[in-house]
Amino acid sequence: MVRREFLERTLTAGAALGSVAAASAAPVSATKEVLSPPPPTGEKTGGGTGGTSYQVPVTLERRRPDKPGRGKVFAAIQPHCDDIPIFAGGTVLKLIDEGYEGILIAMSDDSMAGKGKTYGEITLKNEQDTFEVARRLGLKHTLLLNYPNHNMDAWPIVEMRARLVYIFRAFKIDTVLSYDPSALYERNPDHTVAAKAVESACWMARSSWDYPEHFAAGLTAHGPVEKYYFARGPQVVNRVVDTTDFLEQKIAVNLANVTQGPIGNNGVRVRDKLAAEGKRLPGFEGTDEQVNRAYAKEITFARDRQRGAAYGFKVAEYFHYIGPDESEEAEYIRAHAVAR
Ligand SMILES: [Zn+2]
Repeated sequence: MVRREFLERTLTAGAALGSVAAASAAPVSATKEVLSPPPPTGEKTGGGTGGTSYQVPVTLERRRPDKPGRGKVFAAIQPHCDDIPIFAGGTVLKLIDEGYEGILIAMSDDSMAGKGKTYGEITLKNEQDTFEVARRLGLKHTLLLNYPNHNMDAWPIVEMRARLVYIFRAFKIDTVLSYDPSALYERNPDHTVAAKAVESACWMARSSWDYPEHFAAGLTAHGPVEKYYFARGPQVVNRVVDTTDFLEQKIAVNLANVTQGPIGNNGVRVRDKLAAEGKRLPGFEGTDEQVNRAYAKEITFARDRQRGAAYGFKVAEYFHYIGPDESEEAEYIRAHAVAR
């Protein structure tokens, strides 16, 4: 079938050239190899029709004392209780510091990671940790969507999307922080599915046709226009957020995840193990909390240090950022329109 289709196309192409013989003549290569030019930089991304390039300018985002977030609301969205604290904890704290209000959307039931005797016990402990994480981040609401941990890919993504669209409209969310739907590698299906649901919901929430029952109930079309996407695999990184002023707070947030970690009691575990071997790590001293904080700084968030150092910051978080941009039409009119 594929072969027949190919032949038909070849014959049609020959006929179009005005010569049936062209289809059966000595093979003339229809293809030609050329060196690809570098992809364009600065293509628009917010409109969803551009941004094809991996060669992108990077914006360095520093702390803003002028409180530009006032009047705005963000949603930090995570499948598991440790995702936002690890990858975007500093940025969430920075946005709150800049006047934003924020909510936490926890998508899975977190039944599959952490210490406990039963799934139920693990779920309960992670749930309690999640509320504490939200409190330490300074978030106003915590919504538990309760999807099955490690199995979110078995759930209809349209149902997740519908719930997110409702939340975005009801809470008038302007900005989201979540996993990157365009990241190249991800082994955890919850991350992949959550990212896709979030991205499509951001777009659809702004439509005046989708879910008309929302409008009948008093909501208006409203969706996030700024997205901070993080990833565990290769991704476009076009936003580097300097989180230096928030590192201590970020560690405190991560320490709230006692059940799942990744810091947990690991500093104390390493200290005690080395002590039994007659060794010690300089800096891993003091109270248990101080030792766990040292572990966080030196080991858990070595990544933040490396990322910051690449741009002259003490620590930083990386994002694929998609912001509001002007439409091609509006930009053209602004640049070219003259008085009649
Ligand atoms: Zn996760």
